Amino acid sequence: MKRFALILSLSLLFSFSSLGADDREQELLKGFHNISSNTLLGYAQKLTSPEFGGRLTGTPEYRLTAQWVADRLKEWGIRPGGEGGTYFQEFPAPYTSVDSAGSVVFLVKDGSGALKERPLLFPDEYFPGSNSASGKVEGEVVYVGFGITAPELKYDDYRGITAKGKIVLVESGSPYEKNDPPGAAWAPYNGTRHKLENALRHGAAGLLVLDKVGNPNTLYQPGFVYAHTTHELARQLLLPTGKDIQVLKEEIVKTLKPRSFSTSLKARITASTTRHPEGKGCNVVGLLEGSDPELKGEVLILGGHLDHLGTIGTLFPGALDNASGCVDILGAAQALGTSPLPRKRSLLFLFFGGEESGLLGSTYYTQHPLFPLQKTKIFMNLDMVGNGTGLSLWGGLSYPKIEEIFRKANDRYIHRPWRASQNRPSYGRPRSDGAVFSRAGFPTIGVGATDTVKPIYYHDPRDTWQELTPEIMEDVSRLLFLGLTEAANADL
Ligand SMILES: [Zn+2]
Repeated sequence: MKRFALILSLSLLFSFSSLGADDREQELLKGFHNISSNTLLGYAQKLTSPEFGGRLTGTPEYRLTAQWVADRLKEWGIRPGGEGGTYFQEFPAPYTSVDSAGSVVFLVKDGSGALKERPLLFPDEYFPGSNSASGKVEGEVVYVGFGITAPELKYDDYRGITAKGKIVLVESGSPYEKNDPPGAAWAPYNGTRHKLENALRHGAAGLLVLDKVGNPNTLYQPGFVYAHTTHELARQLLLPTGKDIQVLKEEIVKTLKPRSFSTSLKARITASTTRHPEGKGCNVVGLLEGSDPELKGEVLILGGHLDHLGTIGTLFPGALDNASGCVDILGAAQALGTSPLPRKRSLLFLFFGGEESGLLGSTYYTQHPLFPLQKTKIFMNLDMVGNGTGLSLWGGLSYPKIEEIFRKANDRYIHRPWRASQNRPSYGRPRSDGAVFSRAGFPTIGVGATDTVKPIYYHDPRDTWQELTPEIMEDVSRLLFLGLTEAANADL
């Protein structure tokens, strides 16, 4: 019976296409070679240009970016896959625009014991908070470890500490970061959002996150000013108090006991921002409908987030994160949209908004899917895929038929080092669009580039297109083109 089904599906495959095997190979090669690193680098330059303002979801600049992507899809014959015959899926996305770099000043004791100003330098020593309120705050500095209050874990960084009216210094993450069941209990506390809420709950006047990354996935609270600096800089500035926060942090991780303390130092933070509660975000969705009356109801999805952090005192271009993933998808979409090779299943191209603001777009899609979960054969996520020399399918071994198709395409045409892994259960809080899909039950693979060859500037204004490797983006696009052309017809 199985054998009969196989023969039947093979004969269907060949009878469907009027192209002979040689013609098919010619068309594959044509599509393959039309994907050029030069063109792709141009897309990356466009997406990271000041015109698109760092693509913060909710902003007019993000909307312009989304429209630009939709225009490209249209140009390549890819139909609108969004709501009401448009390319868009809309969702609320309140945001804060950061109007200037503001300032962060420490008041440290000089040799005579008098307080002396030590202004931090922008952007090397601090970033403003993406959702800081406008204003100025000055107060005594209190180190509160990870800034976590978790009664069920019998852990409270604020125990015995007066935070009221003070500026609290918090480390990023949590004291327990392993991907195991105890890690799941800590997961709700390791985001900056919790640290901000908790600082507010304890009456803090301001907050300094000891992790210098731009991050709009936080909380806006009128009147509450915060910023980011580095753990190392804070450590240096606090050393005259006789405490070394590197040592304290290690002790907290080792013992799961807080090591908070009040310093005799002061700090002052100023911020200039505008809140936009009316902000609206969107996903961009393109559809290539399959040719088979039955199988076109099934879909293979390529997804990646289009948004980034916007302008936080300076432009955050977000080239690797995640112009690169979008460029990989655009390259594949262009080749697929203009290829005459037949595909029985449908293909969906999903460019998410709101990833950086809290996985808004992928969450919205999984709650409003355009194809039912059971008809989604695979969701392939591309996040930061533009720096490296090898290719990987994270989770690919959990979908061996699909992994085999892509691996063979690499073996035959691309010849990059190849890695694939099994999907492992995740106990942490979802940190990517892929994790959102996986949690919602969608079969999910993360497409990746391995063995990076350039520095990675994560959530940093130095994440520019000059730090991308266009050759790997070209090969990722080619892999997606070859793999999806095959998988759209294969017995999955
Ligand atoms: Zn990011």
